Amino acid sequence: MNKEHKESSAITPLFSAEAIEKRIQEIGKAISLDFASTTSESPLLLLVVLKGAFIFAADLLRTITIPCTVDFIKASSYGSEKISSGKVTINHNLAIEGRHVLIIEDIIDTGLTIQQVTHELMTMKPASVSICTLLDKPEARKHPVEMRYTGFIVPNAFIIGYGIDFNEQYRELPALGILDS
Ligand code: 5GP
Repeated sequence: MNKEHKESSAITPLFSAEAIEKRIQEIGKAISLDFASTTSESPLLLLVVLKGAFIFAADLLRTITIPCTVDFIKASSYGSEKISSGKVTINHNLAIEGRHVLIIEDIIDTGLTIQQVTHELMTMKPASVSICTLLDKPEARKHPVEMRYTGFIVPNAFIIGYGIDFNEQYRELPALGILDS
């Protein structure tokens, strides 16, 4: 997709920057309450799935009031095609053993990526693994997933903005929208 195409593509607004901010405040409060027993000796590990969740994670992190650390994993799925290939790379040098891990994801679609990430993490002996996703597309689910925190339920359409791309574009948009095909 070139710049000209980008400018001519229609985007249907879905959630405003204000709505996103409000929902993230609520999720941050819930996480801080649920993991209130966390100590600085054993802080909550926010494991951010790159790249799509980076802006969500940055905003969410600043609403959390308990000790936590942040690390990143890479799960590539969509390139320039709007299809999921579900490839997951986890750095096994990550200190996971005995930690409470909260995976921060942008969108759960078929559920394949998060299922693979969770499976990989379980081999690294965490104390627990929970999932926090900004968006959930339940209509597209093929693999069962249990989310602990969900920002918004979305229709089975192609979403962009707020860190979420199409062909590496649109991440800079402050709001979420549907990229019309
Ligand atoms: P799943 O493995 O659940 O099918 O796909 C999850 C990943 O696919 C998400 O983390 C995200 O990177 C990508 N994805 C799923 N739906 C969409 C979408 O509507 N828009 C964009 N840009 N990426 C999506």
